[in-house]
Amino acid sequence: DGRIAGISAAIRVIPDFPKPGILFQDITTLLLDPKAFKDTIDLFVERYKDKNISVVAGIEARGFIFGPPIALAIGAKFVPMRKPNKLPGEVISEEYSLEYGTDKMEMHVGAVQAGERALVIDDLIATGGTLCAAISLLERVGVHVVECACVIELEYLKDGGGAAIRGEESAAEGG
Ligand code: 5GP
Repeated sequence: DGRIAGISAAIRVIPDFPKPGILFQDITTLLLDPKAFKDTIDLFVERYKDKNISVVAGIEARGFIFGPPIALAIGAKFVPMRKPNKLPGEVISEEYSLEYGTDKMEMHVGAVQAGERALVIDDLIATGGTLCAAISLLERVGVHVVECACVIELEYLKDGGGAAIRGEESAAEGG
């Protein structure tokens, strides 16, 4: 799709953030380009509009940027998957592993019902650990996760002395 090159070009890569050796994919420059931002949303909407999805689950924080416009366009509700101790109501939570240590993801009880069909949205997939935690949370309450979708996929993640070397990205991949 011709739109993907424009989306890819609008994403800025910043070396050594948040620590030395990391090539950070910065999507804030994509948000400054209304055509590329709209193309990103449109590509997802075209893929998911006829899949009978009633829930778009967005992962904090950048899934909160891409998730809501997709949810509105496909007629689904938006459910935030948050970092611990942010949601005010009763939550269910899922612990997951990071490169070093663990983190937790939380969702409000009652936000989704068993049998609903969900799409999970984040900006970037690296190891997939974050998306797996979101899938587990949703499946624990009986939701069917149709797909997870990210704007950027890191195709090469290699460890060298604790530093991640990051390779090519491909925009708007579902799967
Ligand atoms: P994973 O769990 O797949 O290893 O990491 C994905 C998570 O880390 C996503 O929530 C994503 O927002 C965040 N992340 C990791 N590296 C980057 C990066 O270079 N750029 C951005 N925008 N997010 C990143």
